[in-house]
Amino acid sequence: MFKSWQALTLWKRVLVGLVLGLGLGLAVRYGTPESVNADSARSGFERAAAIGDTWFKPFGDAFVRLIKMLIIPLIVTTLVSGVTAMGDPKKLGSLGARTIGLYMLTTLFAVSLGLAMGTLIKPGVGVEYNTASAEDLASVTGKMAAAEEAGGFVDRLLDIIPSNPVAALSDGQVLPTIFFSLMIGIGILFVGKAADPVRHFFDSAAEVVMRVTMMVMELAPYGVCALMAWVMATKGIEVLSNLLWLAIALYAACVFQIIFVYGFMIVRLFLGLPLKQFFRGIADAQGVAFSTASSSATLPVTISCAETNLGVDKSVAGSVLPLGATINMDGTAIYLGLVALFAAQADGLQLDMSQYVMVAMTATLVSIGAAGIPSAGLLLAATVLNVVGISPEQSLLIIAFIFPFDRLLDMMRTLTNVSGDIAVACTVAKWEGELNEEVFRNEAEV
Ligand code: ASP
Repeated sequence: MFKSWQALTLWKRVLVGLVLGLGLGLAVRYGTPESVNADSARSGFERAAAIGDTWFKPFGDAFVRLIKMLIIPLIVTTLVSGVTAMGDPKKLGSLGARTIGLYMLTTLFAVSLGLAMGTLIKPGVGVEYNTASAEDLASVTGKMAAAEEAGGFVDRLLDIIPSNPVAALSDGQVLPTIFFSLMIGIGILFVGKAADPVRHFFDSAAEVVMRVTMMVMELAPYGVCALMAWVMATKGIEVLSNLLWLAIALYAACVFQIIFVYGFMIVRLFLGLPLKQFFRGIADAQGVAFSTASSSATLPVTISCAETNLGVDKSVAGSVLPLGATINMDGTAIYLGLVALFAAQADGLQLDMSQYVMVAMTATLVSIGAAGIPSAGLLLAATVLNVVGISPEQSLLIIAFIFPFDRLLDMMRTLTNVSGDIAVACTVAKWEGELNEEVFRNEAEV
């Protein structure tokens, strides 16, 4: 039994873990009776949440910690070794320009899709959002302030250069770590032969860290199962009764973006590569993204999928993907467009064309600034709401209204964010001649 389980490809095991976790969590949420003990009367939902926190969350947290542990070591080793393998620092310029250009393009497409879907489905019509308690409002206000702190990429360009690289590494700051690793890689290239020991060190360190990542990935089916069980037991699928149309619009737009834009347009038409292998190759990363709702925490899995399953060279995977996890958030951009329309519709506001354009631009910028952590997108939505004429007070009400149900929405946008990063990484790799198509195509066999 165990043997045949292990013989299944990892992505299939991750999928099984996800479905089992979902079923288990829902069974706990909707099957736990209320407590009849008069001293500690608790509803079934409260008890289910307690079971989720006690029995499922610690296992999920352990898995997330294990992957997070690898983020910085993986970026440093892969990127330094990738740059030195690339041989020519000039190539970095074209790689960077192409990456950022493609990221912007896919995000603009995504936000337009979100706006189109919001116009079509009208998720906000008739919604009464004025229901959050004072407590909820206070807690969301604090979280929004913290998200502002963590975001603001555009204002913080300077922070990309770490004045203290050791502090940047130890704080897990992704962009400064990318910058520092690039510089070290370029330094090694310029020094040439005398830097051979350092180059070899990073080459072998990259292999070691990748192997550890694979080891951790073997735990993914269990981690994903625990995380899904926890989310479902504590939050359930109540989003469906409260925000049904917003959820439908978001899921539909994300599925369209993934299948049509990444799959059909980019992978099939533009790259001329098989779709099936692409989707199988990214399934592990999608499973982890969906269950963690954090593209940063998923990063090591994203890098390993791109390299191992799709044949993206480490020079590209190590640079394009960490950057993507920080700035490329197509699911978030779709969502921000949708939330703006949701609020405008709930308030009965009519938008003109210039407001649509402004929403698209602001949503793109906010998605770039949002950190790859749970709910970051929603907590930064006030800027986009402002564009459609919603006051800060009302924005707070809307965000507090959606927040308790955001997880199920966040899971889907994170899955989209991560899928977009990998699609762009494959494209850049192909352009740069750094895509091993044999590896990409062979994925069908596993
Ligand atoms: N949770 C998302 C991510 O990590 C960001 C968001 O809230 O939209 O990619």
